Amino acid sequence: MHQNILRTIPSVNELLESSEISKLTGLYPRQLIVTAVRDVLEDIRQSLANKTNEMILPQPADLSPQKLYPLVHRALQQKFCGIEHAINATGIILHTGLGRAPLAEEAAKQIQNVLKSFCTLEIEKVSGRRGSRYHSIEQLVCLITGAESALVVNNNAAAVLLALDTLAACKEVVISRSQLVEIGGSFRMPDVMAKSGAIMVEVGTTNKTYLKDYENAITENTGLVLKVHQSNFKIVGFTETVDLKDLVSLGHARNIPVMYDLGSGALIELQKYGLPCEPTVQESIKAGVDVVTFSTDKLLGGPQGGIIAGKRKFVDLIKKNPLTRALRVGKLTIAALEATLRLYLEEEHVLNKIPVLKMILTPLDAVEERCKRVVSKLGSETKASMNISIISGFSEMGGGSLPGEGIPTRLVSLYSEKTNTEELAARLRENIPPIFTRIEQDHVLLDMRTVYDEEVDVIAVALDRIASQS
Ligand SMILES: *Cc1c(COP(=O)(O)O)cnc(C)c1O
Repeated sequence: MHQNILRTIPSVNELLESSEISKLTGLYPRQLIVTAVRDVLEDIRQSLANKTNEMILPQPADLSPQKLYPLVHRALQQKFCGIEHAINATGIILHTGLGRAPLAEEAAKQIQNVLKSFCTLEIEKVSGRRGSRYHSIEQLVCLITGAESALVVNNNAAAVLLALDTLAACKEVVISRSQLVEIGGSFRMPDVMAKSGAIMVEVGTTNKTYLKDYENAITENTGLVLKVHQSNFKIVGFTETVDLKDLVSLGHARNIPVMYDLGSGALIELQKYGLPCEPTVQESIKAGVDVVTFSTDKLLGGPQGGIIAGKRKFVDLIKKNPLTRALRVGKLTIAALEATLRLYLEEEHVLNKIPVLKMILTPLDAVEERCKRVVSKLGSETKASMNISIISGFSEMGGGSLPGEGIPTRLVSLYSEKTNTEELAARLRENIPPIFTRIEQDHVLLDMRTVYDEEVDVIAVALDRIASQS
């Protein structure tokens, strides 16, 4: 019987020329399609030869291009998944898997306009002399935050490493036990400290640290007092932490610099808009901190980067560290970050133009409106084959910002008798562009807070197509 099936396996060329597989031309380079077709046919031959893994064979053994198309498509997606536009219906605003902060239109345009040809990355227009690539970012950061000096590097992890390496290599760094954070599985404060050559001196307990704990820990070998924002977790109950202002007074009295790793780097006060408080860069600078470090692709809403800002004396030392060259950012980052920071010069622009902030602040009825639009665009076949409803739930900030503070949202909830929930979510991910959702209690949920207006129709079309194929 296997022999008979073997004879029905189409040739690579037959498949490539079929109208089904031709649909992939234009979406993928021909060379990749040919490889995927070969691989799929080889898999089928193998499984027939071994009489194992027959699951991958379409049942009954129908090897028509129509049946093989999904296998080829899946192979292409699995093997050659490059970076592509995706629809984020997870409701996690800063989703590291989906690229953290999406860029503002202005930032994306700036990359287009400036980088297609030569640009003034490191040159002074007026004198024609060599300049600094950091100049524009530094000016903007100082203007927005009140810092004396600033520098941008590859990400906040690099910013912390570089600052510690400069200010505290071979010296003791005093830090509260409650602030030894791990972010995203790979940034662990004790490990970064070890890598920089600093000697960690933990003070206080998990829940309570007092000013006297810091005072008692300072020795002649202390290089730095470090505060770290508990970005992605919360300690509740009987807790005690020391205000930045008090740490700054202590540091200055003992002639020891004080650094604050802020993580998210909010540049606007979120509580003004009814959101939970996230410490801003401005208030840290105002409190007199010597150095702050923060990400540019979290709440700030720009490209990946890490900013070191603060007193000129210390930031200048950091700039001179040879590691700075190893951690420097490229022109893509500078173009996008400059355009993003410029929006912060006018607060109403920030709220309308920076996608991360726009998404957090989208009113509930606007999110509900998007849900209704998806449902109203669905074909009758889809509505008949799926249980579709609009439900309430919570979006998440993600990216280690505002932990445990869900943002009320509305979601489209889907349940199909015919297609199991995991499979339905997988089919949505196979869409072009892929649609990422979340699954709760055996339902696929589409959180419309993180979906762009122009993506609403794309979701409806994808659901209609999936319903018609199941
Ligand atoms: C996110 C975060 C980091 C790491 O920042 P990246 O930009 O992801 O490298 C470091 N410290 C804190 C407190 C953070 O929240």
